[in-house]
Amino acid sequence: MKQLIILSGKGGTGKTSVTAAFSHLAAQGQMANKVILADADVDAANLELVLQPRLLEQQDFKGGKVAVIDQESCSFCGECQAICRFDAINYIDGLYLIDPIACDGCASCVYQCPNTSISMHEQIAGNFYFSESRFGPLYHANLYPGQENSGKLVTLVKQRARLQALDENRELVIVDGPPGIGCPVISAVSGASLALIVAEPTVAGVHDMHRVLQTVKHFGVQAMVCINKADIYPAGANEIEAFCKESGIETVGRIPFDLTVASAMVAGEAVTVFNPQAPSSIAISAIWERIVPALLEKK
Ligand code: SF4
Ligand code: SF4
Repeated sequence: MKQLIILSGKGGTGKTSVTAAFSHLAAQGQMANKVILADADVDAANLELVLQPRLLEQQDFKGGKVAVIDQESCSFCGECQAICRFDAINYIDGLYLIDPIACDGCASCVYQCPNTSISMHEQIAGNFYFSESRFGPLYHANLYPGQENSGKLVTLVKQRARLQALDENRELVIVDGPPGIGCPVISAVSGASLALIVAEPTVAGVHDMHRVLQTVKHFGVQAMVCINKADIYPAGANEIEAFCKESGIETVGRIPFDLTVASAMVAGEAVTVFNPQAPSSIAISAIWERIVPALLEKK
């Protein structure tokens, strides 16, 4: 079983459009019924908007613990507020109240309280979902605003996808990765067979591509690069290709700027379904054709 992860150094590069198109193309070809899909962008999951899956399972995702004050036994001494290094305890209208977003879960206040009025409680930090899409089973999730542990939720999404793939002898897990280079990206990259970086030919885009390539390299995962909206700044696209050539990284294609991509998103379709003859669809299909043999070569 192989894992292909689609990444970008930042959001908005077209990563999810490419993932949705790959999901469609995989469902048509030699990997039909052999693919599991996973949206590891748990902070802003949107693959489901394109795939429009049917929800089969939903679970609460429990994040870290937060402190809660029992107002009945509190004597309003203020010692908890004094010890909290995260400024999570506020004195409002004669009561000490804990802001669950600001609370880091360190439990210092629990030990400081003379009346044992504070206890730690698990909080629901998001939701985990399993759905059936037109192109295969989809694992996805959403983390509530301000919640931490996104890496843990990414790991849960990937683990469940991987387990189903192993159970059913499926060949490939396609993962829509989180943007950036933070903790969720690290969780998403680990165990991947191949990473496709979707880069934009802008100064910021090239910088972000370098950072995500370093992250992928650190985990020993082979990377390939495709350039989205390549024609908006051909010099930048040339720079990306030159850098990749020098670094021994294969550039697998250029996707032109194409309003069809946005129209497909609005229609809730993969661009390759919405208009297979659109320039972006043709380019993405050609990239997919280059990626499949590289994936099949992986052990
Ligand atoms: S658990 Fe730590 S961060 Fe949270 S309120 Fe208590 S002292 Fe502050
Ligand atoms: S330390 Fe305990 S008793 Fe004192 S204000 Fe905080 S919760 Fe209340």
